[in-house]
Amino acid sequence: MALSINKGYVLGANQGDARVALPWYVIMHESGNPKDVYDPNAILNEVKWMRSNWSNAYSTYFVGGGGQIYQIGEPGYVSWAALSANPYAPVQIELARTADRETFRADYQAYIALARQSAQTYGIPLTLDEGSAGNRGIKTHAWVTANYGGDHVDPYAYLASWGISKAQLATDLAGGVSNSSPAADNPNVVTVKYVPGYGVAALGDNGKQVPGSNLVLKHGTAWRSNGISIIGNQACYNIGRGWWLPQQYTDQAGLITINYVPGYGVAAVNSSGKQIAGSNTKFKSGSRWLSATVVKIRGQVCYKVSTSEYIPAQHTRGSGQVFK
Ligand SMILES: [Zn+2]
Repeated sequence: MALSINKGYVLGANQGDARVALPWYVIMHESGNPKDVYDPNAILNEVKWMRSNWSNAYSTYFVGGGGQIYQIGEPGYVSWAALSANPYAPVQIELARTADRETFRADYQAYIALARQSAQTYGIPLTLDEGSAGNRGIKTHAWVTANYGGDHVDPYAYLASWGISKAQLATDLAGGVSNSSPAADNPNVVTVKYVPGYGVAALGDNGKQVPGSNLVLKHGTAWRSNGISIIGNQACYNIGRGWWLPQQYTDQAGLITINYVPGYGVAAVNSSGKQIAGSNTKFKSGSRWLSATVVKIRGQVCYKVSTSEYIPAQHTRGSGQVFK
């Protein structure tokens, strides 16, 4: 699949390094800019800043903003983001930070796909940080520092903050992002959507707010849900330790995402709990449906998705169930 690359901010013809790079490394970076985290325009700001300050430092590409790729330098030529290793890197890739899980997932998939495609273009092995200087492959800035000097050690710490270990990065670079990667979609993870920098309060089993929980359930943080229940009069996710996260303050606010066997659909039920024949062809796994009403039908939590159709909560994102 061809990657979509925004070339609207490429350096001018008389800008950047004119030397052709030796095809040894694709170098992976991370911006290290904490200001990016809650800024929805972070990627564009980073790209514009790098473009106007290219004489200090620049990379071939910048990834961020939910999987967007911007080209700045010309692939195949030297760029300036890794000191003494620059002459050996036809491609260097920067990654903008985010605190939003969906944004990170999309960014990481683009980051991996772009690194793999770049390596393949220049015949560079899909290995990660192997060997010492001169060993061709994909390298992190941390590896460059260890082998060529400097003081940057990105992108490992940032990737680790999203559950991506060095071993996982190596696996994903070698074979592409698979369903077992932490960057793949997890049907039971929900993300807090509130106000950047602030958090929402969890409810206890008694429906009362848990003091201090808003300091933990910050906007953009992701939580694995073990089940869905109605607390008070609203749908909430069971995120453990007796805490219930109100659905209205998550990425699932006002909607449901069908959680079922990939490629298959679930049957809706009517207000009596009877399955509606043929409805499973419509409510496919992964599809999203608006739902503002949650009710109990025969003791089962169900979301109303039309005047006559209800989807059991056990077949929605956050149910805690895993279908394969
Ligand atoms: Zn770097």
